[in-house]
Amino acid sequence: MQTSPTNQTVRGTHDLIFSSARRYRHIVDTSFAVAARYGYGEIKTPIFEFTPVFSRTLGDASDIVSKEMYSFTDKGGDNLSLRPEGTAGVVRAYIEQGLKNQWPLKLFYEGPMFRYERPQKGRYRQFYQIGAELIGVEKPDADVETISLAHTLLNELGVGSKCYLEINSIGDKESRDAYRKVLVEYYSKHLERLSEDSKKRLSLNPLRILDSKEKGDIEVNRDAPKLLDHLNAVSREKFEYIQKRLNDLKIPFKINQHLVRGLDYYCHLVFEFRTSELGSQDAVLSGGRYDGLSEIMGGPATPAVGWAAGIERLSLLTAADPVAQRAVCLIPIGDKAESYCLTLAHSLRQDGFLVDMGYSGNLSNRMKKAASHNCYAALIVGDNELSTGEFGLKILDSGEQIKLREADLKTKLRELILK
Ligand code: ATP
Ligand code: MG
Repeated sequence: MQTSPTNQTVRGTHDLIFSSARRYRHIVDTSFAVAARYGYGEIKTPIFEFTPVFSRTLGDASDIVSKEMYSFTDKGGDNLSLRPEGTAGVVRAYIEQGLKNQWPLKLFYEGPMFRYERPQKGRYRQFYQIGAELIGVEKPDADVETISLAHTLLNELGVGSKCYLEINSIGDKESRDAYRKVLVEYYSKHLERLSEDSKKRLSLNPLRILDSKEKGDIEVNRDAPKLLDHLNAVSREKFEYIQKRLNDLKIPFKINQHLVRGLDYYCHLVFEFRTSELGSQDAVLSGGRYDGLSEIMGGPATPAVGWAAGIERLSLLTAADPVAQRAVCLIPIGDKAESYCLTLAHSLRQDGFLVDMGYSGNLSNRMKKAASHNCYAALIVGDNELSTGEFGLKILDSGEQIKLREADLKTKLRELILK
């Protein structure tokens, strides 16, 4: 066994610190604020679950279960997996807590997910998602509301113009079964042109061949029978209804007949907000309807629809760093000033001010550090200031020096913050 290093992250994982942590926090806070407007409350499920929570729901043929799960046996012999996605855990919680009497249930989450993938820009082994699940509404209005939430959120994060919405319907089971037959017949005639992966998919999950990124598969897919031609009346009606309502809301979309999503539990609507700015990591926010999932997991029949978005991909699309709150820096010179500043900082912080403390070094270095910490002002306190009761407040952006008395300090700082 190789010895593992003690001073570096595992491939495909990363630390979030300063700017990247600020972006993360901004995306999460904005998402929860927008989701609250749509009536969502927060859910936090464990980071690991029994492996079947994922393997039985996502499907053995899915990329996640067949290649990407972090599964392990713990010391008690239980077969556990780090969660690769959020929906299965949310539905497990819904069943376990008996939440059916709370329909419609609107749950929003954020947190880390784990997949053993080939790391690259926008694709990691530990990554973070936000996600929304609307449980207990069968009407396609719920699908529209879910897309409306995603659309509002992307706009509010300032990335809406970089994303486009694609939708498709994979119909109900009857429609899918009928379509699968025709599709398998078609692919069987073109077997030699399919990639090795797709040949395997043909018996396991032929619909997945439709969204293959392999060149040969793409050519075969061009003339493949169309799913939408095989939807039964109920499925077609639902899909048409959704399109009409999206038009009412002026949310632009395109139908992509090759969008099938990789997981077994979807039915009817599937959708994706994509971008052309992140290379092959083009999926930003993906979702769909999953009416059968609760039953697969041993729960009551439950209509549901939801989506998840990758926080790193959202962060890569957000141009500006969210503005950090700015502090005033207290710079004490001498022992007396140090204890004075400690008390002053305590009092300012209790009144809601952000206060940084310039601890040591010469004055000019401490001023430089205050500027590099993005403080908006520095208050220099030495013996002289303590005996006269008059302080110098230096505005770091402009270099302006303001003389003020201690009694006026809070009023002045408040004015500066509000400016
Ligand atoms: P992709 O086609 O890029 O592999 P996916 O279909 O596997 O995406 P989902 O399982 O639908 O993705 O996850 C929802 C969202 O999570 C994606 O739209 C994407 O923004 C993000 N995401 C998925 N996998 C990763 C990853 N390995 N690293 C970072 N973000 C990811
Ligand atoms: Mg994937």
